[in-house]
Parts: sequence; structure tokens; C-alpha cells
Amino acid sequence: MISSLYVHIPFCKSICAYCDFCRVGYDQNLVDQYLVALQQELSQRVDHQNLKTIYIGGGTPTALSDEQFQRLLMILQPYTKDVKEYTIEINPETLTKTKLNLLSTYGINRVSLGVQTLNDRLLKIIKRQHTTEQVIHAIDDLLACGIDNISVDVMFGLPTQSLTDLIETLTSLITWPIKHISLYDLTIEEHSYFGRHHIKKADDELCDQMYFSAIALLEKAGFRQYEISNFAKSGYQSQHNIVYWQYQDFYGVGLNASSKIGHYRYTNTSNFVEYLANRYINDQIYNDKRDYLFERMMMGLRIKEGIVLSKIEENDILCIYKEELADLINRKLLVLVDHRLKATTKGYSILNDILVDLLPK
Ligand code: SF4
Repeated sequence: MISSLYVHIPFCKSICAYCDFCRVGYDQNLVDQYLVALQQELSQRVDHQNLKTIYIGGGTPTALSDEQFQRLLMILQPYTKDVKEYTIEINPETLTKTKLNLLSTYGINRVSLGVQTLNDRLLKIIKRQHTTEQVIHAIDDLLACGIDNISVDVMFGLPTQSLTDLIETLTSLITWPIKHISLYDLTIEEHSYFGRHHIKKADDELCDQMYFSAIALLEKAGFRQYEISNFAKSGYQSQHNIVYWQYQDFYGVGLNASSKIGHYRYTNTSNFVEYLANRYINDQIYNDKRDYLFERMMMGLRIKEGIVLSKIEENDILCIYKEELADLINRKLLVLVDHRLKATTKGYSILNDILVDLLPK
């Protein structure tokens, strides 16, 4: 039974300097056609019973006009009957009064707000369209309309960003009753504006300093790090993302979305013409046992508590990764106790290196 649905809305009002996601500039006609195709895909591929989490991401879902935004939520309404966590990504400058009202009308109970930094100089450098003041208004407005489960995205390692800049952003954010913070290290993607203009991020040493200082600050403020990039107040972990990390099955609909069903991964087309012609799935990969177990560990070890393995999985992992696991356990980077495989504190701080050791050869 699949209990999670991701919905991709690939439209943005403008393009951020670091972005290499699947998105295009907003176009009213294209959005209208896209919503028709999306509704078709949902009806063909998604069982509307038993969904527990829905996540509308992008792009910028709130880049849609108010009327289109309502149409999107109406299309999704039949899938929301059993949903416990219903999340939407919002950029502060696109949140109108009408959209705010629609959130509660259609049962959205969690918002992921794209903040990135509360420094207006840095917001300009990364080509975000909002200001710090708009973030503050958006948070106040969301709280006023009863959305209390607010997550914010914050980035570090931005060009010219100092440690003080990051600490000031986090210190300011935690003065609001925000429940969740996602903290991402900037990656310079080759095809992004930064990549094309050879703009450099902060150096590795400074990034490490930023990451570990942020962890200390957030933990002190009552945000528990439960995943490599995610921090939550008690009871406010992202249930939708936990499905990914625990390697459970999920549907993904919309341009370039991916789904996981058993050993199969499906990736939707990133071509609008194909998508609008209802040719959704572009790629289907069958993960054999070794690839499946690697992905399971790659996702699961990101969670601080690690993964609980079934007896069969544990036997398979111990058989396939015998030497690598023995080495990582000997070096006190991983532990395997009572069927739970997890990184130690030392291992967690160098998780990427551990995963490289486990890569299928
Ligand atoms: S809002 Fe998000 S998806 Fe759109 S350009 Fe910026 S980073 Fe990319």
C-alpha cells in the first residue's frame, strides 16, 4: 500500500542563481494545460485511497495565479481523505491573501517556506525575488491563518556569506514558533547561473564551520537534528520525507517527478510536449538486490537513528557488504545492534565518505 504522494509544479516567476531543478518560467497557458495533464496522470496512476502524506513541491507552486492555485488544490482534493500531513512549498513573495485562505480551505497543514537567508545583500546575490521583510510577513500571515507547522529552508556556503551572516539568520528565525528547519549546503550546479559564471561558493573549511555551528545553535534552541540536513522540534519531523529516507514506496506525479514501487524506480519525462500528450513515464529502472540494498542504506543512514533491517535484509547486507561493513564497524563509524544499522557520531560527520565505501563495485 502506497501512502505518500509527491506533486511537482515546475513553474517559477524567476530563476534563482543556484538553481538547476526541473522548472520553467511561469506561463499562464502552459500552466492551464499542465493542470489538465496532471489531473489525467493522477487518475491513471494514483490510488486515491490510503494516502497519508502529500507534498506539493516545485518549482514554486505559489507562482500559479490564485485561480490556478485553487484548481490545483481541487484536483488534489479527492486524494486527501486520509492525509495526515499535507505540505506545500511557498516562496514568500508569491503568497497572496487568497492563497493563504485556500491553504486552510483545502486542508494544507504544513508549509515549507523558501527563506534561504535573512540577509538582503545575500538574497540579491543568489537572485531570490523576496526580501527579509517579505519573509517576516509570510511567517506572520501563515501563523495568523492557523498554519503552525512551518518549515523553513536555509542555505549556507553562499558566495561572500560569513559565519556571522548564517548565525544571524538562524538566530532570528528561531525567535518565531517555527517547527522545522532544513539546512542545505550550497552546491554549484554546472548549468545554474553560478555554474555558468564560474562563481565560487564559500570554501570547505568555512562551510564545515557553518554546518557544525548551525547544529550547535539549533540543538540548543530545541531543534533536534534527525537527518543530515533537517532539524525539528519534538513531534514535527517531516513524515513525507521520512518515507523517502526509510525507502518506502511513494508516488511522484508531474514533470520529472520520480516514484518508487518495490524494486522499481520510475522517472517522469522532463519534456513538456510529452507530458502534455499524457506520456508521463520516461524511465523505469529495476534495482537488483545489491543496488536496492545500497539505496536503502544510502537513504536510511541519513537519518540519525539509522535503519531497522528485517532479518532477510540484515542477512543480505551482511553477506553482500561483509568486508566493507566489518571495516566501517571496526573503525567505529557504523554500528549494527538489534537489527538497527546506524552511523556513530563520528561516522555521521563523514557520511558521504562512508557511502562512497559502500558504493556497488
Ligand atoms: S524558486 Fe526554487 S525551483 Fe524556482 S528557480 Fe528558485 S530554487 Fe529553482
